[in-house]
Amino acid sequence: MKIAEVKTAQVQVKIDGRPRYRYNYVRVYTEEGVYGTGEASHVDSGWRDSTRDMAQLIIGRDPRDVDACFEHIRRRYIFRGGFAGTGISVLTGIEVALWDLAGKAQGVPVYRLLGGKFRDRVRLYVDSAHTDYSERAAEIRERGFTAVKFDLDDGQSPHKLDPWNWSVTPDEFKSIVDLAFEIREGVGSSLDLAMDLHGRYDATAGLKFAQALEPLNLMWLEEPVPPENIDALGKITHATQTPICAGENLYLRHGFRDLLQKQAVDIIMPDISKCGGLSECRKIANMAEIYFIPFAPHNNSSALSTIADAHVCASVPNFLALEFHRFHDPTWDDVLATDESVIQEGHVVLTEEPGLGVELNEDFLTSELPDGESLWQ
Ligand SMILES: [Mg+2]
Repeated sequence: MKIAEVKTAQVQVKIDGRPRYRYNYVRVYTEEGVYGTGEASHVDSGWRDSTRDMAQLIIGRDPRDVDACFEHIRRRYIFRGGFAGTGISVLTGIEVALWDLAGKAQGVPVYRLLGGKFRDRVRLYVDSAHTDYSERAAEIRERGFTAVKFDLDDGQSPHKLDPWNWSVTPDEFKSIVDLAFEIREGVGSSLDLAMDLHGRYDATAGLKFAQALEPLNLMWLEEPVPPENIDALGKITHATQTPICAGENLYLRHGFRDLLQKQAVDIIMPDISKCGGLSECRKIANMAEIYFIPFAPHNNSSALSTIADAHVCASVPNFLALEFHRFHDPTWDDVLATDESVIQEGHVVLTEEPGLGVELNEDFLTSELPDGESLWQ
């Protein structure tokens, strides 16, 4: 089996007539007629050209040698982002497409090629921006979800004195801690609850928040400090009972090595569609497992990528929950050619279908393009 061609599709899905969610799809075609589809996330506008350049390096190779194809491109790109950043995210889209292809070519779901599944259903947690917390918690429960995350940080806080430093003023601190307690009261004690600080605070402020939120029994507090300094993060993690989660801006196993060796977090959250793909993230989860650290991937991508992520989440024992960003997105299921939603009772349900087990709804995606533009280029 030989790779013949790689094409991309970029679609900006509209909500109420206005462009909203941009999705970046990659398709790898073979000489034998089998193809696989992937998705790349958090890439810049040059990603289609980068994908075409990378693809030239694997034309003629056997797509079932997924790790070797990935590593062949990655090593050629060491001077152009082959260890972190958008280069890896572009490559990730190709990697996911190769897995879909490898599964289809062998007639098995991707999770089988990743070592098989520990679970049939992959638990999602809702990332929510809603401000009526008890109303949102009721909705979440009703739809079968068991965990939710809210944002705590406010870059526009009127209590901030300086937009550049990462310190927190007394009034800003109080308003954020009060908000956290209000959220827990609204949500109730039985939903798992996470809160995100988006790395907007310094080490002193981050630790003060983590300690002040200890009575809330959080599932985790996310990124109390920016991601660049593992030791600063570890200092907070080791000084609080609040579980600390980070890793959405790290890449590859190499990016997680220090974080795990220093046990600088309690939970890791790689973004699977950005940080290296299915094989790499399974390995990252395995690395975390030997420190008894749970794996709770970040995810802000379309349904295709969410399902790809779910294949990894099913294949590792230490999976905790996968992020779901589109609780109120009416177009969520439209991107896939499926009769029923891929999310049932707050979980992605995996099937025995080969590859990722789903296909894109090309009629819908084409209808979101400017007139006359073709989907795959
Ligand atoms: Mg986050």
